[in-house]
Amino acid sequence: MENERINVTKTFLPEQSEYQKILSRSWDKSWITNRGELVLELENKIKSQYNITNILATTNGTLPLQIAIKCLGLKGDIITTPFSYVATTSSIIWEGCNPVFVDINVDTFNIDPLKIESAITPNTSAILATHVFGNPCDIEAIEKIAEKHNLKVIYDAAHCFGVSYKGQSIFEYGDVSTCSFHATKIFHTGEGGALFAKDKALFDKLYYHHNFGHKGATDFHGLGVNAKISELQAAMGLAVFPYIDSIFERREALYKLYKKELKGKVKFQKIESNCDYNYSYIPVVLKSEEQLLKVIKELNNNNIFPRRYFNPSLNTIDYVNGDVMPISEDISNRIMCLPLYYDLKESQVKSIVLKMLNVL
Ligand SMILES: *Cc1c(COP(=O)(O)O)cnc(C)c1O
Repeated sequence: MENERINVTKTFLPEQSEYQKILSRSWDKSWITNRGELVLELENKIKSQYNITNILATTNGTLPLQIAIKCLGLKGDIITTPFSYVATTSSIIWEGCNPVFVDINVDTFNIDPLKIESAITPNTSAILATHVFGNPCDIEAIEKIAEKHNLKVIYDAAHCFGVSYKGQSIFEYGDVSTCSFHATKIFHTGEGGALFAKDKALFDKLYYHHNFGHKGATDFHGLGVNAKISELQAAMGLAVFPYIDSIFERREALYKLYKKELKGKVKFQKIESNCDYNYSYIPVVLKSEEQLLKVIKELNNNNIFPRRYFNPSLNTIDYVNGDVMPISEDISNRIMCLPLYYDLKESQVKSIVLKMLNVL
């Protein structure tokens, strides 16, 4: 159908009967939350598939950031990227810390490690970096700086399901890594997420914090919050999980087709060479905001809806006290993500590109 609405993404859903079959296990036991067998099974599947030391599934991908900041005892300034989803910055502020922005690399769109050291002061307690669109940060450079200045490192790896860096799951890096399983992400549980920490003592602390601090029914291991994922969410994850490799394959094919068809017309993200990428997004940078808006208008007129990820640059949000970040602000103004999802067809990609070329 020529005029079928095409959004930037479309949630992958298995056959409803497959979801129901898994759900019936919680019905049989009348057990729908509090870390039942479906949550444990989902965690174990992800853990063994990607060789992960410790995983805790959570109810979304934002609470893990907040819990990590709290459990690492962070205070004062946290160095972070202005080019991410708002949750990266809002979590810092929500936990009573102060985001200090460091501009991004113009090609990778990730925080520029060359600019981190000059932003460190005695008040700095950590670096919170995002692997933007699933593209790994310069992890080695960041960890060297963190070690030298005794800073904690948290990675917002919300986009990184399935990504590996130097042969290891990307979730194995940093003191804590977090992921989102939101319906718009490459792997999802409707709403959901996870946190990862290799250090067992830290992981245990994060675990207690995500469940009110409960250590047994009447004992508490400090302060906590409620970030538990339910069995209903885990059932969705278990229903999607068997398809994850075909989701990666399909996206890779479409991503490569976009790159081929748009070659020389737009700028693409430079993906870290030492990684196994998940093709979670296809961001393109146009020559100017004016050109971007023209392209979006043409696409919208044809029932095609890309998204301006990420805009605005987070240092410019009104509740944030951020310095000017020239590169992030410039990229934010000219970037969008094109439609990319499992059942998008090659012919649709070609037609999206043709519409874009009309105005480029
Ligand atoms: C989606 C996202 C989050 C938040 O995840 P939720 O599961 O929606 O809470 C955090 N950071 C980034 C970079 C994201 O894209």
